[in-house]
Amino acid sequence: MSGLSGRCLCRSVRYRVSGPIIHTGHCHCESCRRATSSPVTSFFCVATADVAFEGEALRHFASSPGVSRGFCGNCGSPMSFATDKRPGEIDLYVGTLDDASGVTVSQHWFWSERVAWLSCDDDLPKHDN
Ligand SMILES: [Zn+2]
Ligand SMILES: [Zn+2]
Repeated sequence: MSGLSGRCLCRSVRYRVSGPIIHTGHCHCESCRRATSSPVTSFFCVATADVAFEGEALRHFASSPGVSRGFCGNCGSPMSFATDKRPGEIDLYVGTLDDASGVTVSQHWFWSERVAWLSCDDDLPKHDN
């Protein structure tokens, strides 16, 4: 049990996670950078069945074929990422957690797409996909 919970900026969308974290990562891909207007964003992945959303229903945007990005329709906060390539899993943003201190992000994704001026001085594995 992770006991994790989170919300969007305006609190219209809230969630609770009842199961374990499957994996975590900092994503540098261009699509995530544009979706979050940020140089990098950080995810934790859980089983879709372990997430209970409350409040307003998420709105969704298909940023690529088979990809669904969920966001708050009121304040616009990015909330979730799901891909047909990983059925039954959902990625949530570490930045939406009520308390992000309990999550350790373990790797970098799409390292080759990172913005040139961003320095990440860590020993984490850096994958190009
Ligand atoms: Zn909101
Ligand atoms: Zn990404």
